[in-house]
Amino acid sequence: MKVFKFGGASVKSAEAFQNLVPIVQEYGGTRQLLIVVSAMGKTTNALEKVFDLAFTGHAYQEALQQIWSYHQEVAFALFPEAASPVYEQLEHLYALLQAELQAFSLLASYDKQYDQVVSFGELFASTILHHYLQQQGLLNTWTDSRKYIQTDTTWREAKVDWTWTERLIKRDLPAVLEEQLVVTQGFLGGTNNGLTTTLGREGSDFSAAIYAYCLNASGLWIWKDVAGLLNADPKHFADTVCYPEISYQETVEMAYYGASVIHPKTIKPLANKLIPLYVKSFLNPAGEGTRICDCRFAKFAPAYIIKEEQCLVSFSVKDFTFISEKNLGTIFNALSELRLKINLMQNSAISFSICTDYHQARLHRLIETLHDQFVIHYNTHLRLYTVKNYDQESIAKVIKGKDILLEQRTRTTFQVVCR
Ligand code: ASP
Ligand code: MG
Repeated sequence: MKVFKFGGASVKSAEAFQNLVPIVQEYGGTRQLLIVVSAMGKTTNALEKVFDLAFTGHAYQEALQQIWSYHQEVAFALFPEAASPVYEQLEHLYALLQAELQAFSLLASYDKQYDQVVSFGELFASTILHHYLQQQGLLNTWTDSRKYIQTDTTWREAKVDWTWTERLIKRDLPAVLEEQLVVTQGFLGGTNNGLTTTLGREGSDFSAAIYAYCLNASGLWIWKDVAGLLNADPKHFADTVCYPEISYQETVEMAYYGASVIHPKTIKPLANKLIPLYVKSFLNPAGEGTRICDCRFAKFAPAYIIKEEQCLVSFSVKDFTFISEKNLGTIFNALSELRLKINLMQNSAISFSICTDYHQARLHRLIETLHDQFVIHYNTHLRLYTVKNYDQESIAKVIKGKDILLEQRTRTTFQVVCR
């Protein structure tokens, strides 16, 4: 039993869908394979835009029409038969999406309505994939992740009810998978009263890990447009290397520091059952890719991770007394209330500094809350560089020509905040 996850880039066009068929045939097979798919290309961003327009009372029809045309064009290219049932199903989904936007209320929660709207990207993509594989002779059942991944109502960041989820998946899916493939959506969950939730942006990897866990899969394959898990983002660094094998722990840490290759929540369910995760390229499926598993290496190539749009905030006490644990408690409480996550922190005798993602409104509220007690300085539009498994050479490479505001290192990890 295997799980495949295809991300947005792997289904961004008709050619991209066509490219998946041999991958499924060759590496997956015709049964005992569950396929999790994300929204096509940048559809989720586009749906977010439509939702924001609607929420702020602006005309959203044109932006919505563009999303619809994009899906229609891909469908026209894949299904030349005008009578294909895919059209009826896509139109039905589109009508539901329009109804959702019309029913829209400024009084109801933004996040709750966001989930009801933004979830349509995965519904469209999985409908097209289901019909296309079927047309290519790959018998499969379309299932609705909202009926299986059961969650609470933390809209946009829903928490999974593992017991229920596992029970439902185990009850229905193994029998289907005995005979054929299953196609389902990433990113989506559902509440016990039938509302849609989402698991957080880029959450489809996590969805795939949930299915792999509940089905005791022999592996999860994430198909991407890169060769595997790289030691740096090729957009920022030349000479990147692909790790052939890396541990769950290293991968979690890289995701934590901001490597965008895998959603950070993906690893835990896999590691708990020692299910290997393979990151492979859908552009070069025969390539080796990366195997993430329970392995240990004494030495591996330094990993470079960048977090952009950082803000460095320093708190100083006003009377030259030292920063106390009580002061820190006050600061941590305020940060937690405002959902500002600390990416790095450091303290000196009279000041305490944190590096956090820059959210203008939240930062202003933080200052409002604490300015009575602390002198607060901040710098914005910074970058946080992390080098895992650093050496002299890798540090030199990162800091060259940079204006460094803060630096920190442990035995294995080097971090700098710079302009
Ligand atoms: N489509 C969703 C997003 O773009 C989920 C995913 O791609 O993993 O965030
Ligand atoms: Mg994605």
